[in-house]
Amino acid sequence: MSIKDKPKVPISRIIGNILFVSGVLFLLANLLLPQLFGPAIPRVPYSLFIDQVEGAEVTEVLVGDKEIRYRLKSEEEGKPGQILSTTPIFDLELPKRLEAKGVKFAAAPPPRNSWLGSVIGWVVPPLIFVGIWWFFLGRGAGGGGPQGALSFTKSKAKVYVEGDSGKITFDDVAGVEEAKTELEEIVEFLKTPQRYIDIGARIPRGVLLVGPPGTGKTLLAKAVAGEAGVPFFSISGSEFVELFVGAGAARVRDLFEQAKQKAPCIIFIDELDAIGKSRAGSGGFVGGNDEREQTLNQLLTEMDGFGAGDATVIVLAATNRPETLDPALLRPGRFDRQVLVDRPDLAGRLKILEIYAQKIKLDSEVDLKTIAARTPGFAGADLANLVNEAALLAARGKHEKVAQADFNEAIERVVAGLEKKSRVLNEKEKKIVAYHEVGHALVGATLPGGSKVAKISIVPRGMAALGYTLQMPTEDRFLLSESELRGQIATLLGGRAAEEIVFGSITTGASNDLQRATDMAEQMVTTYGMSKVLGPLAYQKGQQNTFLGDGMNPRRMVSDDTAKAIDEEVKEIVETAHQKALSILNDNRELLESIAQKILEVEVIEGDTLQELLGQVKGLELASHS
Ligand code: ADP
Ligand code: MG
Ligand code: ZN
Repeated sequence: MSIKDKPKVPISRIIGNILFVSGVLFLLANLLLPQLFGPAIPRVPYSLFIDQVEGAEVTEVLVGDKEIRYRLKSEEEGKPGQILSTTPIFDLELPKRLEAKGVKFAAAPPPRNSWLGSVIGWVVPPLIFVGIWWFFLGRGAGGGGPQGALSFTKSKAKVYVEGDSGKITFDDVAGVEEAKTELEEIVEFLKTPQRYIDIGARIPRGVLLVGPPGTGKTLLAKAVAGEAGVPFFSISGSEFVELFVGAGAARVRDLFEQAKQKAPCIIFIDELDAIGKSRAGSGGFVGGNDEREQTLNQLLTEMDGFGAGDATVIVLAATNRPETLDPALLRPGRFDRQVLVDRPDLAGRLKILEIYAQKIKLDSEVDLKTIAARTPGFAGADLANLVNEAALLAARGKHEKVAQADFNEAIERVVAGLEKKSRVLNEKEKKIVAYHEVGHALVGATLPGGSKVAKISIVPRGMAALGYTLQMPTEDRFLLSESELRGQIATLLGGRAAEEIVFGSITTGASNDLQRATDMAEQMVTTYGMSKVLGPLAYQKGQQNTFLGDGMNPRRMVSDDTAKAIDEEVKEIVETAHQKALSILNDNRELLESIAQKILEVEVIEGDTLQELLGQVKGLELASHS
């Protein structure tokens, strides 16, 4: 992989050690050297000095504050005389005496190292402390890692740079075509920012990749960098929130500083939810995580920071838990673009398998298409793992090439591992989900409700849904008529109705549908006053004060009779919708069958194919706008 790490020389540690050692040496020198080598000049009494001056034995004198040094006349020619010292006493006559004897004399210059000494005296001891501090901090907190104490505000972002061998491109990612299309635009921004700036367009700052684990979010981000050929700073959310209190925010600032210098470039924050968790969420404000909060605030500030004229720095982030993100992160100017990276459908899985099959020796009888068909719900990472697992099995069996049998065994292994983690459907479940989803779609296509079915899929999506039917509102609707609400409730029940008709039994898969249908019916009765029996009264209390009203019945105080009547009305609405759904599906039994068979084959039906199929539905009701 083309990772170029920042130089990780633990400079702080080296400086710390040098300071520590030199400090110790300095102390030793100061304390011990004077004793060891002492003043080499013999000290004599002042009276002897005066005698020698009077006796004309002295040639030169240096008069200092604390010491008088003098040189005696030499006894032999050419050899300097002995140097002696004495302690001065208050003697105003001394200059006169020296002058009288013709002795050269001068005041001693201040000791050469006195100012230096005092500077050292002031500066070095604190340095020693700092050195000791670094020394121990480096040991303790760094845990021996490459991160010294000095660099704790330096971001740990790794930089991927273009031109490195093994760079990742969009060709390495398959099965997520929609996400790729969206990201291609980002690549354009990075390649030719000027074109967009000239026309006055605002280049998006933040793009959030959302999708289940292993679908290739990290891979896509790397591919964007590879395609655009720009520097790529990569950091994970949990690295932000680490170790030093308050350093998280500094790290973000540092990262953005570095990035701006390298613009155009990409900052990639993996697992954004680690920092971007909703502030109102878990834990509330009591004992909230200050550190994370600060980091998040810094991130928001920095993202607001690059204005129009600024360097092109695009922040890419990935998360598999978008629902936990702080809404502030998703506001315009921040991560306002979201790209869904979903599990691949049949065709996507085939393409991913083809990518990884190139890397192994494949037996010619291997049919990747059947493998793709047998692995609904597998994410890209699972498929990569599957191919590797098959290759391992082949190698273990000492085969030359990877055979279909190896794949079959590998699928079983991978599925067994996945069943706990995510949803992989077996054949029977897949069939139930197919009829269920087609049931939603057929009822939705027949009844008014303002939505057009755009896509039916039995590829497990997100964390909860087994399959899904995507309804696109044909126009923005703020007002819904009673018949449209009833239509939506019937559509929600269409899935369950289909299961009843086809299998004669029902599964747990419809529980979310029932919840939503019941809520909607209750609102019709208690909030919108749509019940003939109960009349146009609002039985629902307004906005609940959660602080005081926690756990209380949200209904207005009603008599037991009224409460009972409400329950009956709700039940009536849901049951009517249920019957309606059943009758629509019974009328369209063959169509239900044929679409379900088709979807079992291809897993996803959308676009014209879907419209054509749904156009055959019998008993179409037109939306009645009232
Ligand atoms: P995520 O970040 O979404 O959890 P990753 O990008 O880390 O997933 O995927 C892990 C690995 O799985 C990738 O390195 C790649 O080998 C493989 N992979 C995942 N999705 C795809 C895909 N769509 N196409 C090709 N390979 C994929
Ligand atoms: Mg990832
Ligand atoms: Zn459903």
